[in-house]
Amino acid sequence: MSTLNEVGERDAWRCWLCDEPVDPDASVNADRGPSVDGGASPKGKKVAAGAERLAHRACNTRKGAVKPIVAWSPELFVVDPAPIVSAVERLTHKGGREVVARCPSQADAEKAAIWLLDRLSRFAPQLAVATQVEAGSGQFLLVLRAV
Ligand SMILES: [Zn+2]
Repeated sequence: MSTLNEVGERDAWRCWLCDEPVDPDASVNADRGPSVDGGASPKGKKVAAGAERLAHRACNTRKGAVKPIVAWSPELFVVDPAPIVSAVERLTHKGGREVVARCPSQADAEKAAIWLLDRLSRFAPQLAVATQVEAGSGQFLLVLRAV
């Protein structure tokens, strides 16, 4: 087990679930206060050393009841965005590629690709992925590929 401070420093005091800053000085009993999450290990399995992640207490508590949800940025123009957590799990276990969103223009798809890679660099730093934009039937597909 790592201490809260070690996990917080490693994750740069940013919540791995909602991607917003966590105040290291906030009370650990406050909703927005810091807490240590078990990370992305499957339920019931032992959490590997170093797999712990920093989360807001409220984000971490919600995760117990439902699968963690990583939201797409509302500033992106994406149609049918795939659930990021499930896509990351499948790519981690099976590799291959996934269409994760469709965009009305190439510029939108490229913007979404840059956002997604940045987001995943914190949410799933162990996963090596590349993005690809493919034109198809009047729209642009954003593809995530394990590398
Ligand atoms: Zn959070």
